[in-house]
Amino acid sequence: MSGNEINRRDFLKFMGIGGASAAALSGCDMPTTVTLEEGKEKVAAYLVPEEYVIPGVGVWFASTCQQCGAGCGVHGRVREGRLLKVEGNPDSAINWGGLCQMGQAGLQGHYNPDRLSKPLVRKNGSLVEVSWNEAWALVEEKTSAVKGDRAAWLTGSVSGHQAALLSKLQDSVGSKNHFVYEVINNRVAEAVNEAMLGEAVPRYRFDKAKAILSFGADFLGTWVSPVHFTYEYAGFRSGDRGVLITVEPKMTLTGANSDLWVAIRPGTEGVLALGIANVLLTKHQVDGSRLPAAARDAIAQYTPDKVTEITGVAGDTVVKIATYLKQRSPSLVLSGASAHDHANGYQSAAAIMMLNVLLGNVGQTIESSGGFPVKELTAKRGSSKALADFAALADQGALDVAFIYGANPVFTAPAHMKFADKLAKVHFKVALTLFADETTAMADVVLPLASPYESWGTMVAAYQPQEMTLGMQQPLMQPLYAETRSFGDVLLALLKKRNAADYQRYDDYYAYLRNAMTQLPAGLRQGKSDAEFWDTTVQKGLLKVSTTAPALKANVPDLTQKTAAAASDFPFHLVPSARLGLWDGRHANLPWLQEAPDQVSKVYWDSWAELHPKTAAQLGVKEGDFIRIESDQGAIEAQVYVFKGVHPEVVAVPMGQGHENYGRYASKRGVNPLKIVSAVTDEKTGEIATHATRVKITKTGKSSQLPRLGGSDRQAGRRLVGTVTADVFRKTEGGSNVA
Ligand code: SF4
Repeated sequence: MSGNEINRRDFLKFMGIGGASAAALSGCDMPTTVTLEEGKEKVAAYLVPEEYVIPGVGVWFASTCQQCGAGCGVHGRVREGRLLKVEGNPDSAINWGGLCQMGQAGLQGHYNPDRLSKPLVRKNGSLVEVSWNEAWALVEEKTSAVKGDRAAWLTGSVSGHQAALLSKLQDSVGSKNHFVYEVINNRVAEAVNEAMLGEAVPRYRFDKAKAILSFGADFLGTWVSPVHFTYEYAGFRSGDRGVLITVEPKMTLTGANSDLWVAIRPGTEGVLALGIANVLLTKHQVDGSRLPAAARDAIAQYTPDKVTEITGVAGDTVVKIATYLKQRSPSLVLSGASAHDHANGYQSAAAIMMLNVLLGNVGQTIESSGGFPVKELTAKRGSSKALADFAALADQGALDVAFIYGANPVFTAPAHMKFADKLAKVHFKVALTLFADETTAMADVVLPLASPYESWGTMVAAYQPQEMTLGMQQPLMQPLYAETRSFGDVLLALLKKRNAADYQRYDDYYAYLRNAMTQLPAGLRQGKSDAEFWDTTVQKGLLKVSTTAPALKANVPDLTQKTAAAASDFPFHLVPSARLGLWDGRHANLPWLQEAPDQVSKVYWDSWAELHPKTAAQLGVKEGDFIRIESDQGAIEAQVYVFKGVHPEVVAVPMGQGHENYGRYASKRGVNPLKIVSAVTDEKTGEIATHATRVKITKTGKSSQLPRLGGSDRQAGRRLVGTVTADVFRKTEGGSNVA
């Protein structure tokens, strides 16, 4: 990367091959819109190429992945002005050179043939392509006079200077209405962390833990910062190999890597946590003075027998988990969506965090991150309650204008919310997006965005590693389409109209960002001049920040557990599972991620319903049979995948498929389990209880081969891999150390 920003910008400008040809030159196998053979490409010569532009030789530039909120650093290989490949940035303490499949597939979003290349405006009921100027004029006409809370933004998680600029935009119109929505979130645990530790997103020290007990925290898959924790996990397993125990109703990627995997009845995780505490206090004489008397009273009720009755987890397993935690101190206890996305989610998450307090883990394996020192840049973390709050205002007719960015709520909202009907009541809706989807279909104006690899920006992830990091995002190539703008440029343009005195002087978001970076506190700039600081940060793709961290608190709230009553009409629990890859469905339009099989079931390009073998036998179904899964909100149909890694009372259906209107790769494929989620919320936080739905299952009589890459899980008598039971292994040489 050149240290000179003028050269950098010129570089992007004179890479003169027409945008539409990029797919043809990308090395990507997706259909191209224009080919050389058709004679439609515009080709410009390199008149005075930069010294680092050597035909046939790639150059790597640093940026930040935007495929989820973890903020991994990337290096992008650029050749002749085209981005060809991305890899992890080894300097990033978030991902240390690693990149997950979603990060790798970001390139396919950039070159996706379904990207919007021109704005859309609703005319006579239909969205039609117009010029950027025409669309922008309409946005200004309809929104410039709207003041106060009648103007709202509904976004996914945002951070960095874009989040700060959005806040300033909202200030300029006098609106507090910024709703940050993520259906895959950790909001309930964050609320518990705030109350018990004094910090919503503390730092987890896998490197210090000798045992990890995860209640559905799929840290190798979809939990908080997956690439970071994959590296942390590798360290945890090396040397004095740490023990991993996972408790969850459906086996996740993390569960599949566990030493001990325990299936649990959904919504009873808090009871198991209290039962483990009971054993720690009564059998192992762990010092209970860290807990208040009320907590010890609550724990005393949950003997292993009672825990078995409620959770379905055998009493000796409860004792075994407690023994591991006692023997391998310090430990680390985590909770994820399957444990706390219930009506009693807060109580469950509190009971789980209580184990860390009881075991003395707080301050050892859980520590304060101190928080990013520039508050306006910190991540605005998403919640599902935010969507309900937005929908309530829309339903009241209280919103004249809504800008929607980074979220597809018409797809992800449960049917009971009737979100589309409520959104329709907003007078003027502007969607900012790379792709048409179920939500943009309801917009009045759709503004096509430049891709993250065409845009300037910064990112501050909610979870910060030991080396706190601001991710720098720079364009790695010239925009493919002339009629697109970066998110930052759209925000700046809106602000220029509303606060010209402060923003008119910036030609573009690049100019704004460069100036804003020089305004960071002197301590973060390490004594560098403005130019040196900017050049270094852009070149490295990140800024490492040190901060002092206070000690965490260790409060323990009321631990009373309420568990849902059995529902005879709906005997099964629905687990809408998150999977690394399609995520909440936002990546379902990327064929690499459709083609990548699910890490556990090996199914690809479709949905499936996981059933325990006993359940499948009771229902009289086998792999490939279609079943109807019905809740009080509706029904979906999916093919059965018979799997021991699921609780017998559970049917697990992954999120991500079921799109109606999301491009050629995602639409009309599979089902969306979120649509049949019942109208249940966590009583304390108001979060949508996505794992609290009861369903009944019926056979449809239809059957076909399930698309699985694995083919068969059986060795068919070939003895390819030898296995032995734990009991037999304990009697062998070397097995004496196994509990
Ligand atoms: S974890 Fe998120 S930020 Fe990191 S590579 Fe994967 S998608 Fe990108």
